[in-house]
Amino acid sequence: MRPFPRDFRIRAARIFVRRNSGTRTRVGFKPVGGMYISFATNSDSQRGRHMAETRKTKLLIIGSGPAGYTAGVYASRAMLDPILVQGIEPGGQLTTTTEVENWPGDTEVQGPDLMVRMEAHAKAMGTEIIGDIITDLDLSKRPFTAKGDSGTTYVADALVLATGARAKWLGLESEEKFKGFGVSACATCDGFFYRGQEIVVIGGGNTAVEEALFLTNFASKVTLIHRRDELRAEKILIDRLMKNPKIEPLWFHELTEVYGTDSPLGVEGVKVKNTKTGEITDIAAKGVFVAIGHAPANELVKDVLETHMGGYVVTKPDSTETSIPGVFAAGDLTDHKYRQAVTSAGMGCMAALEAERFLAEVGDDVDIDGAKDTSLPLGTGAQVAE
Ligand SMILES: Cc1cc2nc3c(=O)[nH]c(=O)nc-3n(C[C@H](O)[C@H](O)[C@H](O)COP(=O)(O)OP(=O)(O)OC[C@H]3O[C@@H](n4cnc5c(N)ncnc54)[C@H](O)[C@@H]3O)c2cc1C
Repeated sequence: MRPFPRDFRIRAARIFVRRNSGTRTRVGFKPVGGMYISFATNSDSQRGRHMAETRKTKLLIIGSGPAGYTAGVYASRAMLDPILVQGIEPGGQLTTTTEVENWPGDTEVQGPDLMVRMEAHAKAMGTEIIGDIITDLDLSKRPFTAKGDSGTTYVADALVLATGARAKWLGLESEEKFKGFGVSACATCDGFFYRGQEIVVIGGGNTAVEEALFLTNFASKVTLIHRRDELRAEKILIDRLMKNPKIEPLWFHELTEVYGTDSPLGVEGVKVKNTKTGEITDIAAKGVFVAIGHAPANELVKDVLETHMGGYVVTKPDSTETSIPGVFAAGDLTDHKYRQAVTSAGMGCMAALEAERFLAEVGDDVDIDGAKDTSLPLGTGAQVAE
């Protein structure tokens, strides 16, 4: 049922998880100095198709990034017996990166390794972890109902939404090739690796300007590549950018290719096209930061929950409560500002604690007696929501 083996834990190796056409997951690893090895997993839509059952729980957690797993740890310790549905990317965004140097307690940890540990932690505390994808959510009444791609229906008194966000990419083949090896979408996460080096930032909005400014803390030079000659960012940020001697804007240019070495995999430069003349030029760079925005994974709730800032789910101040009582949102799904593993984990903690308080106050409607062991066939809805 899982896209990759539970004990997939390789030290001194670089691990990749790539999706093709949204239906197959490709997992691979490259032992340091060794050959890249990869394999395709089952088609997601084939996974567990036969399992048409209904699962009842006090708390359903959707998403298996830092927010989801932390919610699992706290909810389990609050005796809520949570069910956590992992989604198409078990472990979340950190499984797509290599070194993580800002997770407290670990000077350096591989992203996939950290997420395997988080999963094991949530499981050890009592979270039931299920390899499924939620395709449909009914939040019109409590208990809430979620339909899984496997055919399973989940019925829950409270819900933690932790479906994360996704950086927008240009879609170039060479960008994909060097992702995690010189191409990044997160300056806060990866800027530190480019001390004293020349880098390029792609984009012209707030994200690009902020990332370029932040990267001057590390890089010797930052070239900001933008298709137009006007930035769509706050004026104060543009002023700072223009005054920064380390930043050189390159107007009317777009990225056409990232190039570099294969062994070891690393970026050496980019090719850019002048959008007016079509002329192609080379820029030497060790790092490429694609800063054209992020998209929260809000597909399940965008029409029913209040959202803002391009689709991020709105929560009450200092809280993970959404506009629907009993539905809590945590992590990058709600956070247009920080988008970090540790802030997501913090919000996961808050969501579980708030869900516990909510359930203590309103009580639970779902008869969860034996819920872990009882699988009702589909079509017996009356028995479920009694
Ligand atoms: C390349 C890269 C490098 C990064 N490096 C760092 C770093 O060094 N340090 C740092 O702090 N942060 C880093 N980040 C950011 C960090 O990964 C995110 O802030 C964090 O993962 C967000 O956690 P989350 O739990 O909110 O969601 P995510 O990690 O985005 O996880 C979302 C989860 O939701 C699941 N999901 C989505 N839709 C559904 C559905 N319909 N049904 C069920 N499940 C669903 C997905 O399968 C996934 O498990 C990096 C991000 C990237 C992309």
